[in-house]
Amino acid sequence: MNTTLRTEITVKEICEGFVYNELEGKGLFGLSGRLTIQPEYQRNYIYASDGGKMEAAVIESILKGYPLGLIYFNKVGDDRFEVLDGQQRITSVGRFLTDKFAVKDENGMEQYFSGMAEDKKKRVLETKLLVYECEGKESEIKDWFRTINIAGVPLNSQELLNAVYSGPFVTLAKEEFSNSQNANIQKWSAYISGTANRQDFLERALDWVSKGSIGDYMSRHRLDTGIKELKTYFNSVIDWVSGVFTGVESEMRGLEWGRLYEEHHKKAYDPAEVSAAVRKLYSDPYIKNRKGVFEYILGGLKDTKLLNVRVFDDVTKSTVYERQTADAQEKGKSNCPLCAEGHDANKTKIWKLAEMDADHVTAWSRGGATEAKNCQMLCKTHNRVKGNR
Ligand SMILES: [Zn+2]
Repeated sequence: MNTTLRTEITVKEICEGFVYNELEGKGLFGLSGRLTIQPEYQRNYIYASDGGKMEAAVIESILKGYPLGLIYFNKVGDDRFEVLDGQQRITSVGRFLTDKFAVKDENGMEQYFSGMAEDKKKRVLETKLLVYECEGKESEIKDWFRTINIAGVPLNSQELLNAVYSGPFVTLAKEEFSNSQNANIQKWSAYISGTANRQDFLERALDWVSKGSIGDYMSRHRLDTGIKELKTYFNSVIDWVSGVFTGVESEMRGLEWGRLYEEHHKKAYDPAEVSAAVRKLYSDPYIKNRKGVFEYILGGLKDTKLLNVRVFDDVTKSTVYERQTADAQEKGKSNCPLCAEGHDANKTKIWKLAEMDADHVTAWSRGGATEAKNCQMLCKTHNRVKGNR
């Protein structure tokens, strides 16, 4: 790979012919059309998404004469380039020059570029950028791109995969899953955390259809000119969740719906019963992990470990231990009531507190409360045996 450092390119030249696509959230061209600002493998423009703080910071840096950092171009033809790294910064500058946002001046007044004093405009336009032009095979460039981070906001893993496996499949998949204008996003957000811009929906869709092997899947489908399987599978999962659980709870967001779909989608559920079960479990004060409620219901109300039911505290345990032990010593029996019923050597054994565990006399799942009068201490072996029943 050859690289050439260019130090004479100005903001004015880079932003000549700048086009910003509002719908797709992309900066498109610069250098009078010779520069493609957002090639396929680049991510969406995110500097405006934090209320504009990052894009304003780019302009403030220029006005103060601070360096903007290195920008990398990929030379793709005679005098034609793509931005490899620096898209966010170039788009910020282009958007500012075309009056898409304002920055605060020294008096705290909002200033659009067109309204600025001539000397300040000139300072912005004549700012020189540090540009590395790279020339090499696609694989070299991509390999290298994989190893760099864009200043300030490192690429996340899905953004890197999009870069590495760029092609018609990624383009189509991004149109569906990385487009913040997609009307389905609100619905998806009930079950998936993250944003379209940062590829979180795309990542989930790929994760589900590939059963966790996203890279493999992208590599195999890289040249596909359709995304039917990806879309169909994703919609099947979403339709299934929203059909089984008719209510939406905030704890549903970010659960492993792909795995749960695979494990449970062939069973029949009555949405009314499911909904009643969710309400009952949500109102149970002993459940510490509400995120586990959904899988607990799907699995037939069996695996209480998912719910992290509140356990007895140390004070309760030692109070019950003392009472049980005094009673046992008086009767000459073991202080584990189940050992005491047995016929082996442990029949009269007095266990230490550390050798015992607290047990619900009436199981939580049958309505037993986590309070002293429903607590008994069992030796660890018996507690484990009882817990597995
Ligand atoms: Zn025992």
